[in-house]
Amino acid sequence: MNVIFLGPPGAGKGTQSKRLEEQYGLVQISTGDMLRAEVARGSDIGKQAKSLMDAGKLVPDELIIAMLHSRIGQPDCAKGFILDGFPRTLGQADALDKMLSAENKKIDVVLFLDVDEDILADRISGRFTCSKCGATYNEVSKPPKKEGECDVCGSHEFKRRADDKRETVVERLKEYRNLTAPILPFYEKTGRLYKINGMLPTAQVTADIEAVMAGK
Ligand code: ADP
Ligand code: ZN
Repeated sequence: MNVIFLGPPGAGKGTQSKRLEEQYGLVQISTGDMLRAEVARGSDIGKQAKSLMDAGKLVPDELIIAMLHSRIGQPDCAKGFILDGFPRTLGQADALDKMLSAENKKIDVVLFLDVDEDILADRISGRFTCSKCGATYNEVSKPPKKEGECDVCGSHEFKRRADDKRETVVERLKEYRNLTAPILPFYEKTGRLYKINGMLPTAQVTADIEAVMAGK
């Protein structure tokens, strides 16, 4: 089974796709995480992507499509994958269908995590992760049980994403509205789109996603 998570930045795609990964034995592929790893390594891709990411802009389709194509060709993806953060433009959605059908594969489910734009900026600018184990937190909705200490591993070091600053978030939301939201009808037309209310409590969102998956 191959799944896509669609939704604005801060909708909870990363959190929910990790849960799905554990439950169904699928591989989570986050193009944002892949790009951040390239930036950290200082690779050519990373160099091309960094300034765009810092400005809240999308990176060019050619670059991201090539990166994704080589990733889904790796053996671990044969058992099925969850795309988190891809596709983000109609060009990417189209390229994805083509590369999959060339290998007799397809996208089975597109889960659209719907969250009102006015609550996204607060969600994103409040979020941080444990530097050691990657556990995710939010100042308002999910602070560590003991202040300054990771619930999972006890570490005292946390980090924030460079593009989670308020100014950049505004730009990311604009890119989403202009370039990514227009993909929704593309998947709706082919009967693959399932809309999930991403404003409900996290556990409820997970349950709603499981209900969709159970029917597949
Ligand atoms: P979020 O969904 O929270 O905005 P991501 O981690 O998915 O964040 O992406 C961070 C940044 O990486 C994006 O703002 C963009 O610059 C770049 N990026 C990630 N995936 C894509 C993609 N499919 N196409 C173009 N740019 C991308
Ligand atoms: Zn931790």
